[in-house]
This record gives sequence, C-alpha cells and structure tokens, in this order.
Amino acid sequence: MSDKMMRFACLTKKGTAEVRERPLPEIGDFDVLLEMKACNICTTDYQQWLGLREHQGYPMAGGHEAAGIVARTGAKVRDFKPGDLVATGYAGCGFCDACRRGEVDQCAEMKQDSEDGYKWGHFGFSNLCVKKINGLYKIKSGIRPSEAAFLEPLATVIHGAKKLRLQPFETVAVIGAGTMGLINAQVARAFGAKALVSEMMEKKLKTAEAMGFETVDCGKEDPVKAVMDMTEGKGADAVIVAVGSTLANQQALEMLKEKDGRILLFAAGYPATEMDVDSNQIHYRRTEIIGTFGADNADFIQAAKALSTGMADVSMLVEKKTFTLDEIQEAYREASKPGMYRVSVLLDQ
Ligand SMILES: [Zn+2]
Ligand SMILES: [Zn+2]
Repeated sequence: MSDKMMRFACLTKKGTAEVRERPLPEIGDFDVLLEMKACNICTTDYQQWLGLREHQGYPMAGGHEAAGIVARTGAKVRDFKPGDLVATGYAGCGFCDACRRGEVDQCAEMKQDSEDGYKWGHFGFSNLCVKKINGLYKIKSGIRPSEAAFLEPLATVIHGAKKLRLQPFETVAVIGAGTMGLINAQVARAFGAKALVSEMMEKKLKTAEAMGFETVDCGKEDPVKAVMDMTEGKGADAVIVAVGSTLANQQALEMLKEKDGRILLFAAGYPATEMDVDSNQIHYRRTEIIGTFGADNADFIQAAKALSTGMADVSMLVEKKTFTLDEIQEAYREASKPGMYRVSVLLDQ
C-alpha cells in the first residue's frame, strides 16, 4: 500500500451509497494508475441500491462501466502511456484456461472481493484507481468519458449478437428501448440486420426513433400484431428481449417467424421472470432460445473500436444531468427512477 489515499463510493446497505477512503494500492508491474473521469450507474448497481439484488453483498464497490486517463504506468507496461483514455473491461488472472481462451468473464478471479473486503472490488466510482492492464481498453482520445464508459455494456451486446448469429438483412425485433435495448438495436444494425424496437415509454420511443429505428408503441398497439404486420405476416427472424418481463418473454415467442426463429434473452429480471414454453412448439418450429451474459476479450476489442470510430453512438444514452462523486447518493436516486438512461458520475469534479 502506498501512503496516498483514494476516494471511492460504495454501497453499504439498501438505499445507501457513501464515499469512503482507502490507501491507494501499489502500482504493480502490469498495473496503471488511472485518474478516473466517469463511471455510469448500471442496472446491477442501482438495483442493489434499491434492495433488489442484495445477494451481491455489502459493502459493494461496484462501478464496472468506467473510464479514466492513465496517469502512471507500472514497470513492465508497454502498451499504455500517460494521457491515454481507457475504459474498463474485465481483468482475469491471465493464466487459467478461461483466460487463455479469452473468456475472461469465466475466470475465478473476476468474482473476487478486494483484499480489504469490498464486494466486486471494481472501485469504478473513485477519483484514483489502480487497475491491471489486461482489463483496460484504449478509447480514442476526445471521446467523452461518459460515453467511453459504455465499453462493457457494448461488449456484452456484441457477445449476444454473435451468439444470436445475426445475419445481414434479417429482421430482429428488440423488446425494450432502455439503454441495453437500444445498444442491442445498434449492434443488430451493425451486423446488417434491420431492428424493430418495441417500447411503451414515450421518452424511449423518441430516442429509438432519433436513432433511426422503426418503433412499435406497445402501450398502444399489440406488439406481436405490429411485428407481424411489419414483416408481411412472417414474423421476426430473431427477437432480443432487453427487458426483464414475463410478458416480453411471451411476446418474443409469438412474434417469431414460424420456423428457425431465435430468441436472445438479454435482460435479467428481479424478481426472476418466466417463460411459458410448449416444448412441442419449440420442437416443431425449431425455435432457439439463447441466453447471454458477459463478454470475452474479442468482444471488448470490437466494442472499443465501435466507440472509438463512432460506429456505436451512445451519446443519447447518457442522461444530461450528471453528478459528482460526492453526490453519489443523489446519483443512485436519479438512476433508480423509471425510464432513465445511464446516469453518469463525473469523477474529476
Ligand atoms: Zn453493467
Ligand atoms: Zn483467469
């Protein structure tokens, strides 16, 4: 431990986020010291604040959607230099079978608490942070840190799109125009598919339309019928469920094309959602129900490119009202309101 301190936010109990200090860890050979710029509050974070995901434990130093500037580099770091803008991905041990396959999200080290007992140990909401370089990805300088911080959610969407095997000119229905729904729609478009977005909240419908997607207002019309109409009665080639809802799961089954349709279950639901499936239907219609969660190293590399080139445009997915580290409690309160896109905590102010 160095004698320098870092300030960071953690969740200490339901409804309580607080700023604490701890000694800044030593910068190891393959570490860098980051001056943190922005960290966005993910659903995982604010649902624990709401008390919906308390199995994750306390105190939790979350914040896995973060970006910062390299301030110092460890003795053996070659590929990062002071001044680089980086976003956080997953850092594994680098040596286990999962890490060597690039499937770093399956590394046992990913789930470790920090040595001083903080769950997750991301410390994304901090002014200074020491990170291993194998979990960092460079983002083109000049990109807004709150947008660079979309690296991890974007990587998980790219992972899902690969599992779904999206093909050019396919029609994919995306249920839910929240942050993850609209990133899914953008990635589907990048894969060459046409995305139809179903959503009931006016704000989110407008955002989807501003991004150029055809939308269905599922509060006003039956999304199954709408998708059937938009696909000349054929149904969608694939459906991405980007909202944790039993109703959405059922709609996905119904708006799918007759044969060989694929459903990607992207969202978690707390409490867990259900899907009422007739296995004969799955059998005869040859339906695929695909789960996805996390991302591998290749996904992170692609996500970094997508953000750096502007091919993924997440600017509309950051709420205009931002917060400082000292306003962390307010930030969580804001992020927990229904209908919010990512609430960004700016860490250099
Ligand atoms: Zn996240
Ligand atoms: Zn590993």
